[in-house]
Amino acid sequence: MLKTGCLVLSIFMAAPVMAAVPSVKVLIAKSLKKIIVEGIDLQKTIHTQNKSEQYRGRKSISFDCRPSSNARKNFPKSPLLVASLSSPTGLISWGKNKYNGELQLLTNPGMESCDLVNLIPMEAYLTTLLSKEMNGTWPVEALKAQAVAARTYAYDRIRKGQGIEAEDKLYHLESSEKDQVSGTFMDVTANTMKAARETHGEILVGPSGKIAPVFFHSKCGGKTLRPDQVWGGVEEGYRSVNCTFCNKTGMKDWKHHMKGEKLTTMVDKVLKRYYADQTVGSDIRLMPDSTENSELRLYVGDRLHIIKKSYLRNLAGRELLPSNNFVMTMNNEEVHVKGQGYGHGVGLCQLGALELAKRGYNYRQILSHYFPRHKMKKAY
Ligand SMILES: [Zn+2]
Repeated sequence: MLKTGCLVLSIFMAAPVMAAVPSVKVLIAKSLKKIIVEGIDLQKTIHTQNKSEQYRGRKSISFDCRPSSNARKNFPKSPLLVASLSSPTGLISWGKNKYNGELQLLTNPGMESCDLVNLIPMEAYLTTLLSKEMNGTWPVEALKAQAVAARTYAYDRIRKGQGIEAEDKLYHLESSEKDQVSGTFMDVTANTMKAARETHGEILVGPSGKIAPVFFHSKCGGKTLRPDQVWGGVEEGYRSVNCTFCNKTGMKDWKHHMKGEKLTTMVDKVLKRYYADQTVGSDIRLMPDSTENSELRLYVGDRLHIIKKSYLRNLAGRELLPSNNFVMTMNNEEVHVKGQGYGHGVGLCQLGALELAKRGYNYRQILSHYFPRHKMKKAY
């Protein structure tokens, strides 16, 4: 008996410890009045009634997301997981879209409609995302760099979500530019599968070994920015790095001009919203600006203000200010803006990564260019 026990123990100890692949809860649609899901041998769980049901063969299930006023009275006033649907085939359809994993219906706080969440294993999630955030036909080494960056972003969100109660726990991130855009099963290509497989579990960590929020954008236009230059919060390890690799692709250098009054209105809003400053004035003068500055220095009347260019972009929109990499000057009553790139400019420059991959750089070299102080780690 003792011998068998030792044998069992030694086999157990020799086996490698494999951490499980985490699943991501992705918010894929909001404010739906009606949801129809379809699949084979569907398993349906209605959480609000503690009830599960399995259907044989192909089945289509419809949910009306406008409860009767009577039913609404009984619902809590916070978001709630109503139902989960999955299929043993691993695939489930919502309209024309097929998803890997499980679909979950949430009620939103107004109880007027439903939100839809896809619970999907991380690696499958990345195979759909790479086609949306980059392009499924891009070189594999560029896709691998993006896979590591997007995996790190999602992994960080899962970890942060674990300690949070209520609504944040119902999903980790949105499939939108607010977080990162993922696709459906139809977006998976041979290259996106290869990129996820060959970077399985790899994430970036900061110089101290702490998991870092990793950001990426379309085109930096010459140099990347640090998170503190754009959003204000300091994240360890970030550097602003030069990038000459994206200049031949994507959006061309752009320029605009606008009336001084338009800038006055925008500056007024930026001061109120981001600096809690109630300064009102029409006499604006811009101080000399350069691409080195992530902030604008300007006078309103006789008071000097320093405002982040990114805050101005948030208000002005992407039509007027496609990136945070711009120079603003004033000539009489006319304001001239000249800029490069597209997107917030922090972290990985996607078009730069594309060019580096075409030149033969591998994904580790690409990542170490944009994240020179970060390190690679296997999360699972
Ligand atoms: Zn770039």
